[in-house]
Amino acid sequence: VLVVGSEHALGALEAAWQLLAEGADALDAVVAATRLVEDDLAVHSVGTGGYPNLTGTVELDASVMEGTNRRAGAVAALSGFTHPVSVAREVMERLPHLLLVGDGAACFATEIGAERGELLTAEAEAHWRDGVARARASAGDGLLDQARALTADPSGSGGTVDVLALDGRGHIASAVSTSGWAFKWPGRVGDSPLPGAGNYCDDRYGAAGCTGFGELAIRAGTARAVVDALARGATPQRAGIEALEDVWRLVSPGAGAVMDVVVLDRHGRHCGLSTERGRHYVWRDAGVGGPVLAERVVVGRAGGQLRCPPSAGGGTLPGA
Ligand code: ASP
Repeated sequence: VLVVGSEHALGALEAAWQLLAEGADALDAVVAATRLVEDDLAVHSVGTGGYPNLTGTVELDASVMEGTNRRAGAVAALSGFTHPVSVAREVMERLPHLLLVGDGAACFATEIGAERGELLTAEAEAHWRDGVARARASAGDGLLDQARALTADPSGSGGTVDVLALDGRGHIASAVSTSGWAFKWPGRVGDSPLPGAGNYCDDRYGAAGCTGFGELAIRAGTARAVVDALARGATPQRAGIEALEDVWRLVSPGAGAVMDVVVLDRHGRHCGLSTERGRHYVWRDAGVGGPVLAERVVVGRAGGQLRCPPSAGGGTLPGA
């Protein structure tokens, strides 16, 4: 029994852990934790309080996946509803579909009575107004020019919450929720709601969740690549290294990749990895008194040196 998450899950991890310790299903635990982060106004990249898109609307992406039979549900570009992760779960439970977007997702959310709310906080709106004013001044009034100015740096993509859990029956589930890249183009869909890209889960092997530059995770199929490596017998660390090295192959020399993964295998081994230094992930099991904030393994460009924090075995690993 174990729960692992991206850094934004820190404040919600204990709740997921308590549920698992009381015998809850992995899916209930990951959804409960994700909902808490969606309500946290201090997290500007998930749920209420998330930064809006280019035109000032908060559009949310979320997905859930169950490892038992790889069922999944997802919503993308959903506005006006406070818990996209729960809407994603209901898509999985109530429809023969997997992913609903925009107005269609909102129509479904209305139909099931999902909780509505104002997602744009005063703080997030001020951030958006500042950004747009700066972009207007430097790039002009054209929306495309502003978009280029505001989304030039993928490290400003924001963050996401990933929660992966292994329950007492050996089932694994994963949930991912995000407001996506701040100033994204309206209707832009990232990796978070796409099984295989930002979220993947299979009881036979394990689970993975991504944060960072979603377009890269979509192109590389990062979460699925991690689980495929677990299936071939790789450790979570090795699986994450291989997947992030593959992400680096998509990035032109001199540019940053900004991609993070959290990995949990069916034996309860876990690892967090990032293309950047100084990133963290969180985990909780019966062996510790509370959530642990752990440093992520840093993965450089393929062929480069891979630096490992002491918590992940220490030292420097040979390049690929
Ligand atoms: N992966 C998310 C997206 O591309 C954003 C992030 O994690 O920073 O929408």
